[in-house]
Amino acid sequence: MCGVVVDLWWDGRDGVDGSRAGCGPAPDQGAHVIDLNAVRADTPASIERVFLDSAGSSLPPRQVLDAVIGHLRREAEIGGYTAGRERADDLEAGYGVFADLLGAEPDEIAFTDSATRSWLAAFDAVPLTAGDRILITEVEYAGNAVPILHRAREVGATVETVPSDALGQVDVEALKELLDERVKLVSLVHVPTNNGLVNPVKEVAEAAHEVGALVLLDACQSLGQLPVRADELGVDLISGTGRKWLRGPRGTGVLVVRRSAREVLRPRLVDLHSGEWVSPHEIRLREDARVFELWECSIADRLGLIAAARYALDLGLEQIRRAVADRADRLRRGLAELPGVVVRDIGEQRSGIVTFTVAGRRVVELRDELAGHGVVVSTSHAGSTLLDMTKRGLDEVVRASPHYFVEPAQVDQAVEAVSRCAR
Ligand SMILES: *Cc1c(COP(=O)(O)O)cnc(C)c1O
Repeated sequence: MCGVVVDLWWDGRDGVDGSRAGCGPAPDQGAHVIDLNAVRADTPASIERVFLDSAGSSLPPRQVLDAVIGHLRREAEIGGYTAGRERADDLEAGYGVFADLLGAEPDEIAFTDSATRSWLAAFDAVPLTAGDRILITEVEYAGNAVPILHRAREVGATVETVPSDALGQVDVEALKELLDERVKLVSLVHVPTNNGLVNPVKEVAEAAHEVGALVLLDACQSLGQLPVRADELGVDLISGTGRKWLRGPRGTGVLVVRRSAREVLRPRLVDLHSGEWVSPHEIRLREDARVFELWECSIADRLGLIAAARYALDLGLEQIRRAVADRADRLRRGLAELPGVVVRDIGEQRSGIVTFTVAGRRVVELRDELAGHGVVVSTSHAGSTLLDMTKRGLDEVVRASPHYFVEPAQVDQAVEAVSRCAR
């Protein structure tokens, strides 16, 4: 039985060159763990430094690098058009890979050049008129808040914030109080950029659907570190990025548009890939999610993104989630014991993002000092998540985001380095 599961599991997921992600023998339920030596061998830089910035821009495994660089070389040899045609089947297969990853159908997947592009394409197509309401949460990301407030002002819609509960996640009961049939969109950030919280999604989607509102999930910080499946979460739209937890190339993004949402959306930014010019005054738009893609893209980066998704699927998203949670918990516990250090994470369920401040120290200074100790972290500032940071009286936090390729001993090294900075 187990053998059958394994066979099915691997079917169609091997890289084109036959290379598989560095993982243990059998990816069956639960028992299998990530082979740390193998994933670290695929990621040489993870050995040279303590890399804690997968929430910023992670280290791609060699499989991703090979896909990108290999294709760039091929373009230089035979030209971009011919090189692209050679990989047409692999590019098409990419929709199936992301459908598997995101719990959707291949025709519900669109590729873009960033999560922001994905998010904007979907948001721009939500029909909105005067008097409509848009709901956001306290951890809304500035990259979403700016276009929401901009468009709301243009069309005369209102934007309201769903309060958080005592633990920090979106308060589903409060959301239900706010919902009525004028609410056209609920914008939900799955994992915020600036604290360790994981928002409940399914409950939000169920409540929003009671009044016919669309739910647009910003999965930028969850895709690649947690299972993010449209079928299980019940959301209409998901935006995700390549460069963060998925370990893909920069300048890549993905959008899920469920078929039910596609019928409601009115795409406006379309090109000759999104539609066809069928007669002098007539066009026909695509009916699938690819209406949100543009014709031109970096094929090399797209192939790298697909390789990154295969790598994550090979390891198993549940296995990744567990390994990330293990490193993040270890880091939080270590930091919490240091005098002068305050861990700033909120929420009941925690992600791989660990945020903290050190008394009397600016975060940018700390980031640079930690880099001197071989520890890579990033920082987050009030402007990125204005509502949450203002509510908690924070200007800035250090953000440390360990992926599964970080050794537990390296987490301890990072704690030691922070303790030196805090002295
Ligand atoms: C990084 C981030 C984005 C934007 O992702 P891009 O790939 O830069 O477009 C959106 N939402 C959240 C919560 C993020 O952390």
